[in-house]
Amino acid sequence: MKKLEEYVVSIPDYPEKGIIFRDVTSILEDPEGLQLSIRELQDKLEGMDFNIVIGPESRGFIFGMPIAYNLQKAFVPIRKKGKLPCETASIKYDLEYGSAEIEIHKRSIKPGDKVVIVDDLMATGGTAEAMIKLIEGLGGEVVEVLCLIELMGLKGREKLKGYKVDSVIQYP
Ligand code: IMP
Repeated sequence: MKKLEEYVVSIPDYPEKGIIFRDVTSILEDPEGLQLSIRELQDKLEGMDFNIVIGPESRGFIFGMPIAYNLQKAFVPIRKKGKLPCETASIKYDLEYGSAEIEIHKRSIKPGDKVVIVDDLMATGGTAEAMIKLIEGLGGEVVEVLCLIELMGLKGREKLKGYKVDSVIQYP
């Protein structure tokens, strides 16, 4: 059986020159890769006390939802601006390339909720930091930030000091 990292396709100079894009859709194309990715993420949460998985649009949905389903937790999406129909909290932040604005339904998080954030990849940590601000702004507690892939050189963990951060695959 192949290791999970062997399923990741790396694309040089995408979406801009000098950036190596790690494509996680190549993991999902293989039934064993898909099984392995969800299982290895889920194993990282063993023994954790939480009631909500939050995943950001769009690849956070892919990995967050099966974990919430398997562990019998709620799933709450964080979406790009303008997609959620009810009252939202929103935040603007900088990306590795460009900027973004994301939103969450206010009703989705209540004081005392314990949240695990799941995403495909952490680069600068800017997306995770923005999500933490949204969740904490609504009274939730972020107990872990979990990603399939972490780009260590971009030092996302430094931005998230004080939070538990974990990943399955690390690139330098
Ligand atoms: P950050 O906010 O800089 O940590 O960037 C993380 C976000 O950008 C995640 O939601 C990723 O989906 C996306 N991202 C950044 N670089 C890559 C990559 O190489 N492959 C896939 N997604 C990426």
